[in-house]
Amino acid sequence: MRICRFCRGEQHERARYGVIEGETVFPLREDEPFAALDVDRSQGMPLSEVRLLAPCQPSKIIGVGRNYRDHALELGHDVPSEPLIFLKPPSAVIGPHEAIRLPALSERVDYEGELVVVIGRRAHHIGEDESALDYVLGYTCGNDVTARDLQRRDVQFTRAKGFDTFAPLGPVIVTDLDPHDVTIETRVNGQVRQRARTSQLVFSVETLLRYISQVMTLLPGDVIYTGTPAGVGPLNPGDIVDVDIEGIGVLSNPVI
Ligand code: MG
Repeated sequence: MRICRFCRGEQHERARYGVIEGETVFPLREDEPFAALDVDRSQGMPLSEVRLLAPCQPSKIIGVGRNYRDHALELGHDVPSEPLIFLKPPSAVIGPHEAIRLPALSERVDYEGELVVVIGRRAHHIGEDESALDYVLGYTCGNDVTARDLQRRDVQFTRAKGFDTFAPLGPVIVTDLDPHDVTIETRVNGQVRQRARTSQLVFSVETLLRYISQVMTLLPGDVIYTGTPAGVGPLNPGDIVDVDIEGIGVLSNPVI
C-alpha cells in the first residue's frame, strides 16, 4: 500500500492521511495511519488535484552515518564498528517539491539520498527473538541534506544537519517494500550522482532498529535515515535534486 499525507488546493485545509491507488487518493477515516488503515472509498479524489506533503510527522529523526562502505571511504573514514547515529530536528522536515534553502552560514551544502524507515508502532528494546521489521510501517525516500563545511568544523552533527528544510521526505510510504535489495539513485538536474543497492548497507534495517531501540523509544511516525551511498556532492541555487528508490518513487526538491 502507498500511504501519503496531502491537502487540497485551499491553503488552510487541514492535512490528511490517505492511500494512493493508481491516480486516485482515498483519505483515511482516522487522523493517523498507524493503528489501522480504514480507507474511505467513497471520498476518492484525483491525485492531480492534491498536494502531497511529507508523508509523516516524526517526533524524532534518527540519522545513520557512514553506513555504506564507499561513502565512508570517500569522506576519509573507516566503516564504524557499530552504527553511528545522530538526530535531525523535526523542524527540518519538508515534503515533495518544497525548496531546500541553502543557509548563509555554509559554503558547502551536500545532498545525501537515503532509504528512510518509518516506524509503525512503539519500539523499546526490540529483542533478538523479535522480528524487528514488525515495528515498521513502511519506507520512503529521504535527503539527509548536510552542510559539509560545518560538519567538518563542529564535533557534533547538530548544526550541519539541522537547518530548516534539511530533511526532505516522501513522496509516499510504501508498506510492502522489501528494504534489503532495492536500487537507490540520486540525480541533480537529471544527472546521476549516486547509485547503489540497499544490499550494500553496512548495518541492515533490522540491526539499526534493534540498536536504536536500546537507546531511545521509537514512536509511530518516527523516521530513520539509513545512510547514504558514495557520490555525495554540492547543491547550488536553481538545482533540482531527485532521490529515486525502486518500488517507492521519486522525491524531488528544488534548491534556493
Ligand atoms: Mg546521511
